[in-house]
Amino acid sequence: MTPLSHAALPIIIAAAVDCRHIARTGAPMVNRWHILAIGISGMLPDVLDPHVLLSDRLNSWTHTGWFMGLVTVICLGAARRVPAHHRPALLLCCMAICLHIVSDLLSGGVALFPPFVGVVGDYYIPVRYWLHIDLVTIVGAYLLCWRSRHLLRAVGRKI
Ligand SMILES: [Zn+2]
Repeated sequence: MTPLSHAALPIIIAAAVDCRHIARTGAPMVNRWHILAIGISGMLPDVLDPHVLLSDRLNSWTHTGWFMGLVTVICLGAARRVPAHHRPALLLCCMAICLHIVSDLLSGGVALFPPFVGVVGDYYIPVRYWLHIDLVTIVGAYLLCWRSRHLLRAVGRKI
């Protein structure tokens, strides 16, 4: 999938979780800077090791289970040190990075644990649908962010 959907997909999840949190507690779980960080995190594996061809992705160090494990350990360690109101966003950033690799696994494959486990996945999501997925995820992310802001206004919180 493209970096746009890699950014928008975790934002959809974060905004949906935030909407539920606002509806239950009346308080937001993430702010707009958190949403931005989650979107950037979703693109991070492609930003750290840019590539165009699938063969380059299959040799990319940022598209492995090792990288997911490293990111998870770093995020869990950092979550203990950051202020409590940043913790959900930090964990959502970790989720965004892992979701990127899982998405790429479904759209071409990744070399999951080189050299022990080779390429996992295939084009379960064909390339011809990627732009459609971009459009749907961007619109979905926008609508869910709009919904969370609307919920905040409804409960009288400053946005
Ligand atoms: Zn990627």
